[in-house]
Amino acid sequence: MSEATNLTAMTAAELAEKIHNREVSSREVTQAHLDRIAEVDGDIHAFLHVGSEAALAAADAVDKALDAGEQPASPLAGVPLALKDNLVTTDAPTTAGSKMLDGYLSPYDATVTARLRAAGIPILGKTNMDEFAMGSSTENSAFGPTKNPQDTARTPGGSGGGTAAALAANEAPIGIGSDTGGSVRQPAALTDTVGVKPTYGQVSRYGLIACASSLDQVGPAARSVLDAALLHEVIAGHDPMDATSVDREVPGVVAAARQGANGDLKGVKVGVVAQLNGGEGFQPGVVESYRAALKQLEAQGAELVEVDCPRFADALNAYYLIMPCEVSSNLARFDGMRYGHRGGDDGRHSAAEVMAISRAEGFGPEVKRRIMLGTYALSVGYYDAYYLQAQRVRTLVAQDFARAYEKVDVLATPTTPTTAFKLGEKVEDPLEMYAFDLCTLPLNLAGQAGMSLPGDRASDTGLPVGLQLMAPAFADDRLYRVGAAFEAGRK
Ligand code: GLN
Repeated sequence: MSEATNLTAMTAAELAEKIHNREVSSREVTQAHLDRIAEVDGDIHAFLHVGSEAALAAADAVDKALDAGEQPASPLAGVPLALKDNLVTTDAPTTAGSKMLDGYLSPYDATVTARLRAAGIPILGKTNMDEFAMGSSTENSAFGPTKNPQDTARTPGGSGGGTAAALAANEAPIGIGSDTGGSVRQPAALTDTVGVKPTYGQVSRYGLIACASSLDQVGPAARSVLDAALLHEVIAGHDPMDATSVDREVPGVVAAARQGANGDLKGVKVGVVAQLNGGEGFQPGVVESYRAALKQLEAQGAELVEVDCPRFADALNAYYLIMPCEVSSNLARFDGMRYGHRGGDDGRHSAAEVMAISRAEGFGPEVKRRIMLGTYALSVGYYDAYYLQAQRVRTLVAQDFARAYEKVDVLATPTTPTTAFKLGEKVEDPLEMYAFDLCTLPLNLAGQAGMSLPGDRASDTGLPVGLQLMAPAFADDRLYRVGAAFEAGRK
C-alpha cells in the first residue's frame, strides 16, 4: 500500500495521533483525501462541492500551530471531514440537494460548521443528500444520486448517503449528517459505517437547513465508534442561537467509547424489541445478522431482555404525518421572494405567479408531495383527524420507550429491514421508500439517541447490515459504551 492509500484507510483517531506527533502533516492527510476524491468521486458522487483550497488552508493553519508548539485545538485537529450539504458554510455553496438553493452562499456559518472550524477540522466539501433531507436513497437529490461504494448498482441510503458513501469509499475519515427519521443511521447501515443520532437538543440546529424541526438533529458519522465519539464531543453542547438546544452537560461519550473497548458488557441490559426483530418486511439475511449480534452481546456479558413496544407499529404513520406538516411550514419561505430560486421574473407575471412558478421549478417531486400532504393535514377540516391524532401517537411511542427503559439500558434492533436496494428500485413507490425507515424513526419521535454500527454481512445478499442501538435522552454515552464493546467483540 502506498503511503497515501494508507492515510485514507486509517481511522480519525489514528490520523490525529500521527498529525499531533508530527509524523505526518494535516496537509498531507487532507491532500491524500482530496486525491482520493479526485480518483473515485466521479463514479461515487458523494460530493456536491469539493473545497480543496479552503480545506488545505485549514490544514496548513493546524500544521503551523502544531509546529509552533501549540496544543492541538481538539483531539481531531487536522483530520479532514465531509459535511452534509444542509449545514451552511460561508466559503462553499449550500444547496440541501435542491435546485431551489443552487448557488446559494450563506452569509454565516452554522454553529456546527463553526465548531468544526474551531476544532481545527478541515472541511473537504459538501456531501450529496436527498432534497431538503427528504428521502431514503439520495435519489431525490436534484443533482443526481450517490452510489454505494459497497456495490455501485445500489443506493448508499439517505438522506445522508453522500456522507456515508464518502466514508465507505475512504474519501473522508469522518463526516456529518442530519437525522430526522434515520438519515445518519440508515446510510451508515447500508455502507458498513457508523452513524449516530444524538439526543434531540444536544447538537445545535442553528444553520441547519430545517426539514422537520421537532425531529431534526445533527449527528456524527465515522468508520469507528471512537471516531464518532470524538466528533460527537466536538459538535455537541448548548447553543443560545438554537431555541431547542438544551443547556445540559453532554455525556462523556469518548470516555464511554474507551470504556467499551475492553469488550466487557457485564451488567448491561439490552432490550430486544418484540415489534422490530423480524417478521413481515424483514429480509432473512438481516434477521440472521441481527440474531448473531444479539448472541455476541450476550457472550460479552450483556443480559438480553425482551421488551414490548406496541405503538411502534404506528410510528411510521405518525412520522409521515408530523414530518410533512413541519416541512410544509418550514419550506414556505422558499418562494423566490424571500429565499431561493426565482422563476417567471420577466415582468409579465404577478408576484403570486412568480412565487408559484419559482416553487414549481425549484422543488422536486418528493418535496412537493410532502408540502401538499402537510398542507392538507394541517388544513382546518383535517387538523384534528390527522395532525393531532399523530401527535397523540407520538406521545404513546414515547411512553413505550419510557416503559422499556425501566427494564433495560439500551434497545437493539436491525437498523433497516433489508440491505441496500438497487438504485431505481423504489423511486416509483414512495410508500415503500417510507417503509424502509421503520426501525429508525420511532426514536426521532421521542427525541432520543441512536446509533447504527456494522454487524455481520447478510448471508443472502452479501451486503452490510447495521445493528441499531437506542438509548434514552441524554444517555448517549450508553450507545458508545455498548457500541464500542460490540465493535471490539467482532474483531
Ligand atoms: N427517510 C426519512 C424521510 O424521508 C428520514 C429523512 C431524514 O432523516 N432526514 O423523511
